[in-house]
Amino acid sequence: MNKICECNICGGAITTVYKVKNKELIGMAKEYIQDISMCNNCGFIFTGNPFDEKKLNNRYKKFSKFEFDDKEYILNETADYITRCRRQQQFIDRVVGVSNIESILEVGAASGYNLSLYKDSAQVYGIEPSYNNCKNAEQNYKVPMFCGVFEEFYEAKEEKQYDLIFLSMTLEHIVNPCDFIEKCAEFNKKYIFIEVPTFDYKFSDEPFGMFCEEHVNMFTLEGLQNLMLKCGYQLLNAEFVLGLEQKLPAGFPAMATIWKKVSRKTEQKKYKIINSSEDILTRYIKDSERELERIRKIIEGIDDNKRLAIWGTGHHVSMLLANTELASKSIVKVYDSDTRKHGMMLCNVPIEAFSETDIEKNKVDAILLATYTAQKVLEKILSAYEEKVAIIKLYSL
Ligand SMILES: [Zn+2]
Repeated sequence: MNKICECNICGGAITTVYKVKNKELIGMAKEYIQDISMCNNCGFIFTGNPFDEKKLNNRYKKFSKFEFDDKEYILNETADYITRCRRQQQFIDRVVGVSNIESILEVGAASGYNLSLYKDSAQVYGIEPSYNNCKNAEQNYKVPMFCGVFEEFYEAKEEKQYDLIFLSMTLEHIVNPCDFIEKCAEFNKKYIFIEVPTFDYKFSDEPFGMFCEEHVNMFTLEGLQNLMLKCGYQLLNAEFVLGLEQKLPAGFPAMATIWKKVSRKTEQKKYKIINSSEDILTRYIKDSERELERIRKIIEGIDDNKRLAIWGTGHHVSMLLANTELASKSIVKVYDSDTRKHGMMLCNVPIEAFSETDIEKNKVDAILLATYTAQKVLEKILSAYEEKVAIIKLYSL
């Protein structure tokens, strides 16, 4: 575990604003109390005790939910991903003109689909930790990839400079964002595109869902602007994407932004933002506490003698196990559609795919939909069994 002692952007003193309890974070830790910290000077919000980079990188290489080739995965990431890439391209085109970009380097290039959108008019290169993603990118899209994390690419000391550096849903994972952007700048001629989840325009959803254990930095436009000004970049434009249909509390709302490299500090203009990061964070925590209290009551109401199946093994379950009575219930089955998790344990129960024979052979009395993101999908799957088994939902979606 890292302990961050001063603000990464301005060097200011920091305060731990909140502690989020987690239990059984698969592949990461049995117990983890995440410190939500804030800079007293510039208001930057981040995880004060992130997992060390080795552990995070290992997770991205083997186990990330941002891997796109598992057809069985519950979320239809692929369709959402395609929509996102096209939307980002239109935004870049509106702000700087795609025809003005001759070369692009993408960090976290995923399936390679995104870069394939640009490869007719620009030289493209991707950096991607997942081996499966790299293989697919080269096979499916003929997009060249550096298979590894950014640090490995940086150590390889390639000389080339790119017109545009593309960072979509990347910067929130980086333990030292200032150092990272400064390193990116060494490979950059003109612009950096950044899309990150944002607290600006946050809606009430899964309690503490923004504090995903993979996310080190929690951005507001204020925070991101402070970071980019420090690294010699100027805001050209930003676009907020609410993502209402995606129901991904750690990912949406998001902001897409474009930053121009400027040679001298005097060329920089700082836009003064009225909504302070501190106010936004305080409101978010209050709302999460209120939602958690509501959910606690639902879980308290589950009969201790009922044989309970839990569907969902992600961040949301870890939050429930640590903050409600869920762990004391008689959990007999744990379902997840992600085949990579099958055979691993949660609450001493092996994770497996949902099986209707568990209902037919009367092995479970109730199924808890322990997910915000996938609740609707699961409701649909289980609608056929509503008369045979109790289905416990935590949200009215
Ligand atoms: Zn600061």
